[in-house]
Amino acid sequence: MAEKEGEVVPLVIIGSGPAGLTAALYAGRAELKPLVISGVPAGGQLLITTEVENFPGFPEGIQGPELIDRMRRQAARFGATFLDENVTRVDFKERPFVVETGTRGRIRARAVIVATGANARWLGLDSEQRLVGHGVSACATCDGFFFKGVDLAVVGGGDSAMEEALFLTNFARKVTLLHRRGELRASRIMQERVRTHPKITLLLESEVTEVVGGEKVEGLRLRNTRTGAESLLKVGGLFVAIGHEPATQVFRGSLDLDEFGYVRVHAGTRTSVEGVFAAGDVHDRRYRQAVSAAGDGCMAAIDAERYLAEQHVSATPPAPS
Ligand code: NAP
Repeated sequence: MAEKEGEVVPLVIIGSGPAGLTAALYAGRAELKPLVISGVPAGGQLLITTEVENFPGFPEGIQGPELIDRMRRQAARFGATFLDENVTRVDFKERPFVVETGTRGRIRARAVIVATGANARWLGLDSEQRLVGHGVSACATCDGFFFKGVDLAVVGGGDSAMEEALFLTNFARKVTLLHRRGELRASRIMQERVRTHPKITLLLESEVTEVVGGEKVEGLRLRNTRTGAESLLKVGGLFVAIGHEPATQVFRGSLDLDEFGYVRVHAGTRTSVEGVFAAGDVHDRRYRQAVSAAGDGCMAAIDAERYLAEQHVSATPPAPS
C-alpha cells in the first residue's frame, strides 16, 4: 500500500531494477519499511533482457523478467511496499525530502535511494525494437555468449562501440562495425585495436535503415550516408552501442551530476545531498551489470540505514521497556 499524501516515511527508493530491489530487500530486513517508487514500466533494463546466464545462483540461467519478479517478491516479503508510478518532481532542499509522483502527490522521506538506472539509446527503428531480445541487443557482456560462430554487426563510433566489437570477437565469426560518419569518435587507442583486429571489418558512412528478419535477425539494410547507396549485410545479430542515457532528468538541479548526466557519488553511495544515496547504473557508467547494480543497492541500503540511525530514525517504534 502506498503512503498517504504528506506522510513521512523513513526511506523512499526510486527505481526497481536490481539496484532498487536489492536496496529494498536490505532496507526491509533492517525494518525500515522502504517505499519503492518503481517507475513505469517497473523493473528496469532486465525487463527487456531474455536469458540471464551471469547472475550468480541460477546455474541454468533465468529470464530477465522472472529475475526481477523474484527480487520484487523477496523485497516485499521483508516489508517493502511498491508504488508503480514515475517520480515527477523531487525537493531535496526540504527536510524531510519531498518526492512527488503523478497521482500520489507529495511523499516525504527521511532518506532517499536513487536507483533509476540508465537506458541504452536505440536507433529508433520499428524493426529494431521488434527484435530486441531476438538478435538485437544493447549489451555485449550480457548477450555476446549467445552468438558463438555467428556474424555480427555493431553500430556506433564511440568507445562503447569499440569495446563491444572487441568483446564480441570472443564469440563471433566476424564483426562488422558500422558508423554513420567518415571518422570514429572513439579514443585513438581503441580505434587502433579495432582497426587491427583480424575479425573486425569497419564500415564507415553507413547507417542501418532496417533490421531484416521475422523471428530473429537475418540481416541489415544499410544506406551509405554520403552516396545514398543501399546494400544488405547478412548478420545474425545486431549490437547497438550508441551510448546510454542516465535516467536523471528529474534530479537535475537537485543532485550533482557529471558531464554525461550520471549522479556523482562519493564515499560509497553518497550523493551531493546528505541523506540521498545513489545505486546502480544511474551513477555507474563502467560496469552496468545486474549483479554489480544489485551489490550497489545493498551498499546504498547499508549507507542509508547508518545515516538514519545517526538521525535516530527507525520505522518501528522502540519496544516498551
Ligand atoms: P559516445 O562517445 O557518445 O558515442 C556514441 C556514438 O554513437 C557516436 O559515435 C555517435 O555518432 C553514435 N550515434 C549516436 N546516435 C546515433 C544514431 N542515432 N545512429 C547511429 N549512430 C549514433 O558514447 P559511448 O561510446 O557510450 O561513450 C560515452 C563516454 O564513455 C565517452 O566519454 C567514452 O569515452 C566513455 N567510455 C570509455 C570507455 C573506455 O575508456 N574503455 C568505454 C566506454 C565508454 P557520432 O560520432 O556521429 O556522433
